[in-house]
Amino acid sequence: MYQSLGQLKETKVFKDPVHRYIYVDDQLIWQLIGTKEFQRLRRIKQLGTSFLTFHGAEHTRFHHSLGVYEITRQLINVFNGRPEWDDQYRELALCAALLHDVGHGPFSHAFENVFGVEHETWTERIILGDTEIKAVLDQVGDGFAEEVAAVIRKTHPNKLLVTMISSQLDVDRMDYLLRDAHFAGVSYGTFDLERMLRVLRPSRDQLVVKQSGMHSIEDYIMRRYQMYWQVYLHPVTRSSDYLLKAILERAQELYAGHYDFTVTPFHLIPLFEQTMTLKDYLALDETIVYFYFQQWMEEEDKVLSDLASRFVNRKLFKYVDYPQEKRDAVHERLCLAFSKIGLDPDYYLLEDKLSRLPYDLYLENGEISRHPIMLQMKDGTLKEISQVSPLVRAIATSRQTDEKLFFPQEELYDLKEFANEKMQIDTLLRGDH
Ligand code: CA
Repeated sequence: MYQSLGQLKETKVFKDPVHRYIYVDDQLIWQLIGTKEFQRLRRIKQLGTSFLTFHGAEHTRFHHSLGVYEITRQLINVFNGRPEWDDQYRELALCAALLHDVGHGPFSHAFENVFGVEHETWTERIILGDTEIKAVLDQVGDGFAEEVAAVIRKTHPNKLLVTMISSQLDVDRMDYLLRDAHFAGVSYGTFDLERMLRVLRPSRDQLVVKQSGMHSIEDYIMRRYQMYWQVYLHPVTRSSDYLLKAILERAQELYAGHYDFTVTPFHLIPLFEQTMTLKDYLALDETIVYFYFQQWMEEEDKVLSDLASRFVNRKLFKYVDYPQEKRDAVHERLCLAFSKIGLDPDYYLLEDKLSRLPYDLYLENGEISRHPIMLQMKDGTLKEISQVSPLVRAIATSRQTDEKLFFPQEELYDLKEFANEKMQIDTLLRGDH
């Protein structure tokens, strides 16, 4: 049996730019926020390199985690008193919301891509390992930490809790869309959260939407679609991410070749050697990564010092759209030009093809997604939203793709002797001959 840690004598209040106030009444939540593993999230930005595109986007995973907790708290208030909601799950839901991103590391996407670390695995190790968070959760009772981890990894038997924390319409997305839009300074991501919370209903095995709330959900899906293309997948952010990856790959390659670094990158060696312990992982944050990048600007290795300087001083690779059928010809010509000026295409030429659906109703094999957004009709039956909304139906099946080449154009184009190559490449890129 679990033993609640009870309420605080006085409500703790955080000022928040998105939700205005975040309220903490539970001892348990207050203690979790105070752990060193949770405080570490203050040193990890929510949107990685996006601040190089949208300078306001400096908000951290700490902000977002508190926000997800607050939306969950408000959602539970809406649910309270309904027969489908069992309030014994309140603390479990709040803990899972607060801790769902606790395993994120510095610049997660680039690090995950280069070193194969997975933030989900680290979230679990932090919740279940030798940490302050685990010690706080253990006060509730044996097995509670495991239940929190199960909700986050989506294996908990209570599917309502699981879909509240992660599905196409979950507290995580609701917070990040609003928050990322606010800090990026754009208007695409804003939707009416209060209204949305009022139309959500608990059902036995998932979160559902009252029929009359359909238009709120349409609005939310459109906002999400716009945020993806305008903010999350912005080509300048993608360019920054590639640069970051190129730096990490170069550093790893140098390390493997016993290169003599001016300052030994102690914090990154466990990543290079794939021997990372929980303690090593928790010691990593963006401050540390920046420290090494600044050191590497002075390294003797030309590639590493150039890439690091480009990142620190925001001298990003430019990008061009290219017609797929010209891909090989463009690639070949660029590589040839690169070899003439001594640029390694492994680090300086990146191609990227993106493709996504605005609403993941259908998986690739035509099966219906496991967590589609369900409307609760007036007669109590459930219907998947695209069956009812012509708007969602129209965009659900329209796949958007985007193909770009990233490279330091100025290196080629500013040189007179490349005027001819430039013309040929431009012609190819335009695809107009
Ligand atoms: Ca999240």
